[in-house]
Amino acid sequence: MPHDIEIIGLGGVNCFLIKARDGFILIDSGFAAKRGQLERPLEAAGCRPGNLKLIVLTHGDIDHIGNCAYLRAKHGAKIAMHRGDVGMVERGDMSSGRKTKPDRISPLFRIVVAITGLFARPGAVDVFSPDMILEAGEDLSEYGVVAVILHLPGHSKGSIGILVSGEGPSADRSASLREVSNRALFCGDLFMNVIRPGPHFMINDLPDFNASLERLRGLEIETVYPAHGRPFLLRSLLMENRS
Ligand SMILES: [Zn+2]
Repeated sequence: MPHDIEIIGLGGVNCFLIKARDGFILIDSGFAAKRGQLERPLEAAGCRPGNLKLIVLTHGDIDHIGNCAYLRAKHGAKIAMHRGDVGMVERGDMSSGRKTKPDRISPLFRIVVAITGLFARPGAVDVFSPDMILEAGEDLSEYGVVAVILHLPGHSKGSIGILVSGEGPSADRSASLREVSNRALFCGDLFMNVIRPGPHFMINDLPDFNASLERLRGLEIETVYPAHGRPFLLRSLLMENRS
C-alpha cells in the first residue's frame, strides 16, 4: 500500500499528516497563530490525543515549530529534529547557528521577514527541547512509517528531508487522506513552489545547499512536498540546476 497523507495548508506554510501503522506522524507544525486551522484537520483525520506518535521538524524556523510544545502536551507526541537547529527551538532564536548574512536572499523574502517577524527576537515563540535527535540515514519504521531521514542543510544547518522509501502500513484510508508515491520527499525549506519550483528564497549557506542538491541526485525521488507551495516533480528541477 502507498502511504496516506494530508497536506494541511496554514496560511502559506504546509504541514503534513502521515498515517502510520498505529497512529500518525506530523511533519512540521506551522505558526502558533494558526493552531485552530491545524487542529481541525487533525481531528477530522482521526488524530486524537494519544495517537500522534511523532512530530518531525524539517528545521527550526518559527513558521514550522509554533505548535510543537502545545501538541506534545496535548498528544504526548515526541518531537524529533536534527541537532543542527536545536539552538533555534530552545532559544526561540532563528539566527542561532546561521551566518549573520545569508549567502543568498531574495528581496521579496526580506519583505516577508520584515512583515512576519520571522527572525523575531527570542521569546516570540513557545520554546522547547526535542525528545529525539535525528541523524542522516535514520529510519522511522519504529513509528509506523517507512521513511528515511536525509540531512539537507543550506536553509539552516539542521534542515532535513523525510524520504518515503517503501510501502505504507494500511489499507483503511479515511476520506480526507491522499496517497503519496513510495519515493516522495518532504523537503522543508530546501525548495519551495509558491510561484514555480526552485530553491527557497533564503539560502543561508550556499555550499551546504549545493551539497544537499548533489545528495538528492540518484535517489530516485519522484514528488517533492515543499513546506511552502505545491508539490512538484524533482526530476525537472535537478535537470534545470545542472546547467
Ligand atoms: Zn519556512
